Amino acid sequence: MVHAETSTGVLQPLESIAAEAQNAGALMVVDAVTSLGGVELQVDTLGLDVVYSGSQKCLSCPPGLAPITVSERAAKVIGDRRSPVQSWYLDLSMIQRYWTQERFYHHTAPINMIYGLHEALRIISEEGLESCWQRHLANSEAFCAGLHAIGLHTLVSPANRLPSLISVKVPDGIDEAAVRRTLLTEFNIEIGGGLGELKGRIWRFGLMGHGSRERNVLLLLVALEKALQKHGWTS
Ligand SMILES: *Cc1c(COP(=O)(O)O)cnc(C)c1O
Repeated sequence: MVHAETSTGVLQPLESIAAEAQNAGALMVVDAVTSLGGVELQVDTLGLDVVYSGSQKCLSCPPGLAPITVSERAAKVIGDRRSPVQSWYLDLSMIQRYWTQERFYHHTAPINMIYGLHEALRIISEEGLESCWQRHLANSEAFCAGLHAIGLHTLVSPANRLPSLISVKVPDGIDEAAVRRTLLTEFNIEIGGGLGELKGRIWRFGLMGHGSRERNVLLLLVALEKALQKHGWTS
């Protein structure tokens, strides 16, 4: 399942779901692409079996790497497979052998990315991982408070709200794409629109990694209010 649901802005309650998975004897695979580094994620405490992420979201690194962790339980399942994995790219049994003394060839690693990720992790470590989570939370709370003050509403209630991506309801009668265009052309700020059923109904604001800063929150709020006014909004 997805930990940080970027299409809706929901932070999934992993604890209860992981416990159910364990009771059922199932392996739990978690997409932590937009949570790693920005939101608390206790892989071992929750007993998560496979967790993968990306370098380009809350870790503030260029795109190109997908950090992954595999529990002993999951590694055993992979090791005990009878049928070969049909995808070379996702064949974790080969990737595991790449990490052993055997150095079984799987791919040529992008060394520049590994240096990049190392530096990104050093920056997080200097700030402190918990301080980093706290910064994401504080900036998202400040942004939400500002949104409410100008008369806008978030899609997700505070208990399930994802700090690294905030979804905001588009007020009635507003052309949401026009607002996004104004933000981009006049303020150099790119935000996301809704997907699927939420297309046209929400905006999605990323406040992740290096971008989760007080000055960005303030700039976003002012720019959003101006863009809304330009497109006929009166709160
Ligand atoms: C951004 C994102 C992805 C996609 O990551 P890519 O590196 O672009 O494939 C996957 N899952 C979630 C939850 C994301 O937020």
